[in-house]
Amino acid sequence: IEFVQTIKMPGTGGKKNKVQLTEQDMKKLSIEETKRSLPIYPFKESLIEAVRDHQVLIIEGETGSGKTTQIPQFLHEAGFTDNKMKIGCTQPRRVAAMSVAARVADEMNFKLGNEVGYSIRFEDCTSERTLIKYMTDGMLLREFLSEPDLGSYSVMIIDEAHERTLHTDVLFGLVKDIARFRPDLKLLISSATLDAEKFSEFFDDAPVFRIPGRRFPVDIYYTKAPEADYIDAAVVSVLQIHSTQPKGDILVFMTGQEEIDTATEVLMERTKRLGSRIKELIICPIYANLPSDLQAKIFDPTPPESRKVVLATNIAETSITIDGIVYVIDPGFSKQKSYNARTGMESLIVTPISKANANQRAGRAGRVSAGKCFRLYTAWAYKHELDENTIPEIQRTNLGNVVILLKSLGINDLLHFDFMDPPPHETLVIALEQLYALGALNHMGELTKLGRRMAEFPLDPMLSKMLIASEKYKCSEEILTVAAMLSVNNAIFYRPKDKIVHADTARTNFFKPGGDHLTLLNVYNQWVETNYSTQWCFENFIQHRSMKRARDVRDQLEGLLQRVEIDILSSTDSVDIRKAITAGFFYHTARLGKGGQYKTVKHQQTVMIHPNSSLFETQPRWIVYHELVFTTKEYMRQVSEIENNWLLEVAPHYYKQKELEDNSNKKLPKTVGKSC
Ligand code: ADP
Ligand code: MG
Repeated sequence: IEFVQTIKMPGTGGKKNKVQLTEQDMKKLSIEETKRSLPIYPFKESLIEAVRDHQVLIIEGETGSGKTTQIPQFLHEAGFTDNKMKIGCTQPRRVAAMSVAARVADEMNFKLGNEVGYSIRFEDCTSERTLIKYMTDGMLLREFLSEPDLGSYSVMIIDEAHERTLHTDVLFGLVKDIARFRPDLKLLISSATLDAEKFSEFFDDAPVFRIPGRRFPVDIYYTKAPEADYIDAAVVSVLQIHSTQPKGDILVFMTGQEEIDTATEVLMERTKRLGSRIKELIICPIYANLPSDLQAKIFDPTPPESRKVVLATNIAETSITIDGIVYVIDPGFSKQKSYNARTGMESLIVTPISKANANQRAGRAGRVSAGKCFRLYTAWAYKHELDENTIPEIQRTNLGNVVILLKSLGINDLLHFDFMDPPPHETLVIALEQLYALGALNHMGELTKLGRRMAEFPLDPMLSKMLIASEKYKCSEEILTVAAMLSVNNAIFYRPKDKIVHADTARTNFFKPGGDHLTLLNVYNQWVETNYSTQWCFENFIQHRSMKRARDVRDQLEGLLQRVEIDILSSTDSVDIRKAITAGFFYHTARLGKGGQYKTVKHQQTVMIHPNSSLFETQPRWIVYHELVFTTKEYMRQVSEIENNWLLEVAPHYYKQKELEDNSNKKLPKTVGKSC
């Protein structure tokens, strides 16, 4: 690949840039010395003082300056955890919450889960003793349900505020409100970028505490021509860097697990072929579903004669910092939620990043020395095709989840909730309508008994509804499994490049006539029968860790079902199970129409069954799907066959007989839809 260099991103922090730490230097540093070398260290006392003096403080400092790991420790030392009060710190991503908590526990010499812990969905690693608690922003939202004044916290840090996730944005409004009647609560809003003014304004002109950055200059290179296949281009660039550039680790940004797995396999294969002609290349993937012991691997220091390449999702953009990165490869994409307010449909789409993201990514190359960033797109594309900033998630997502949560907190007037950037009016209305159709709200917009039960589950309203509907169809045992398996999202089947045929055969052997939900149930039940065997998973190309996670999730959901007083009953009736699924997912239905194309029932949007689905070949007339994923087309993932009259049974107030009429009795062509 041919690159052209056009600009140099200057370093920051003045004189300090002249002191270049070599990798050896870094390794020699003990934890204590590392802490002292962080840009935030000299500001310890003044920061503590500022927190004492002000109730709300906006903190701005470049990624890697020590905000997330150091500030809670400073405040702990300064006495903010006296009287068993806690310091909380939210993170948009669960991987970050876990890895940062582990690091801080390590720095403070505590066992993770004792004084320092973390809490993420379906995993609570805290105890009575916990004083510093890292958690996802979503978990803090749920904590409001049990502790509306956050009474056990002396400090709450809303970290990575610049990410502007949906949950963080909702938290802004909630914590701002709480601060008014809890003058003793300290609120820190911490951000890696230059949005500080905006945050300050929102929080009634709260003062901004700036931590001067320390970054070395980064040379930025663009490709001469656009790259058709950015995964391949990334792999080639890694090998180019490895064979031509001086030492220093490489960070590659990919959009998700599938891409990372592909790139990892291709890289392994090509380095194997090159054999001893190149130095060792240590390949480390990092993404949300990666087991934590493998996650920890990215932080291992690289041995002197080798090079490390980290293949990461957006998580490495600002949430976690890996020392030793000198080269960044940026294909220019990330996976983003996108929401169609007209149809109320959400899908995940690989989208070009914004200029702000691109610059964050490039900045990752300049932490330990001068670095280089290779953008796999042209300088023209950067200038003309990338937006300045990413649109906050709240403006491009389904709000059902948040609405139900706010309603259960007693916040009824959502149109006047204090949002930093309010969601589009239309989106709010659709969320209210959907919750009404699900039976969670009454016609006054108040939470119903069903809605109250649904709010107990840390799940999307549709999944919660499905779980509760299992009571009626007497199949809670099975629906629990389905919900748990869906929550480990496409990480069940393993498909190694060199054994694709075997893996696919193994997968198809699990297929059940009703579709993918029953197939997932079948996988789980067979695994239980083997007494949770690892070997069995291995033989069947199933990811054992995902299964273990599904089991954990299932246990917790079972506890929650019991809390809302639903008996755990088992049924083998495929119709009952699918009816319960439909009771939750009746929004996600599609019908095979003339011309062999699926259209969604309500909005007539063209959609296709994902090629990995068990129903890809059979193409039944009526289906319900779990989610839409947009790659080259809108694909429905996790699909089950249903009958149209079930829709009237489970959602009589949503569907009308007329919409569901099946007037075409003609036989449909059998092989349609395969061409995708
Ligand atoms: P910020 O929040 O300002 O981006 P952090 O507090 O996350 O910065 O990181 C500060 C430094 O702590 C990093 O540069 C790195 O040296 C170290 N660090 C953070 N997490 C880990 C980890 N899991 N393992 C090893 N070092 C880490
Ligand atoms: Mg941070």
